[in-house]
Amino acid sequence: AKDSGRNTFQYYSRDLTARAVERVQLESSLHRALECGEFLLHYQPQLDLERGTLRGLEALVRWQPPESGLISPVTFIPLAEESGLIIPMGTWVLSEACRQMKAWFDRGLVTAEALISVNLSPKQFDQPDLVALIDRILSATGLAPSQLELEITESTVMRSVAQAGSVLHQLRELGVKVAIDDFGTGYSSLIHLKRLPLTTLKIDKTFVSDIPHDANDTAITRAVIAMAKSLSLEALAEGVETQAQCDFLIREGCPHGQGYLFSRPQNAREIEPFLRDRSRT
Ligand code: C2E
Ligand code: CA
Ligand code: CA
Ligand code: CA
Repeated sequence: AKDSGRNTFQYYSRDLTARAVERVQLESSLHRALECGEFLLHYQPQLDLERGTLRGLEALVRWQPPESGLISPVTFIPLAEESGLIIPMGTWVLSEACRQMKAWFDRGLVTAEALISVNLSPKQFDQPDLVALIDRILSATGLAPSQLELEITESTVMRSVAQAGSVLHQLRELGVKVAIDDFGTGYSSLIHLKRLPLTTLKIDKTFVSDIPHDANDTAITRAVIAMAKSLSLEALAEGVETQAQCDFLIREGCPHGQGYLFSRPQNAREIEPFLRDRSRT
């Protein structure tokens, strides 16, 4: 029994070493990826549910290493966040998303009301020059501040409400919009939400996926839509995959949604036909 215990230990420690090596390798290839321009953005439309018109697009980062498949952000964002690479990578994402949106606007593919939504990780939100950085990117790309929406999670805000509040107020002063992403999965206090200058609540897809048959998720979704309304925030449901979900959301008064029912995230060129189709007012 003693022997097999030691073997087990060796087995796991070797496994841990292998994983540590893998991590270091992945981290260094992430650095190379940034230098060599291997990141790209996919865009997923956000719609006015009732009218079917375009509300905006969420920018979602992808990694395309040479001679390999597209890599999901779920695998590399956590590592980028831990290693600090998220700062330069996030700056690239912000610039590229704003540049692309301005180009679409100039070509008449999106209206002046359409938004580009960009995800901000906790580390990005904490960077001391965030407001100046965004101001610079807006000036450099020429995108109207009112067309940029930043998506932050509940936990990013709730870690330090006082500090988050000050950054959010500066962002709102710039004219930028702010959405709370994955809403319902954290523990936001209503008092805080009410005080912060937010614009949008994004209902997490884990709730949306089980409406209208799961009683709990249906109740939560209903409550979030009502909460958004009473706080004068826009509700946006993510992960809308079926017509039944869409019908339920419309019936409950949720103004906006995004999900595979309308479009998968696609690269800029691939999404353009959708924009041509839905941007007409
Ligand atoms: P998220 O911000 O919650 O993004 C929504 C995710 O749901 C996306 O996954 C999207 O492709 C997926 N999705 C969209 N519609 C549906 C649907 O109808 N059904 C289902 N099941 N899923 C749907 P993706 O692109 O793999 O991104 C995963 C996460 O990675 C994002 O979650 C976000 O937290 C993070 N992420 C993506 N891009 C960036 C970025 O540029 N910066 C940062 N900091 N994080 C990013
Ligand atoms: Ca998001
Ligand atoms: Ca989300
Ligand atoms: Ca669920």
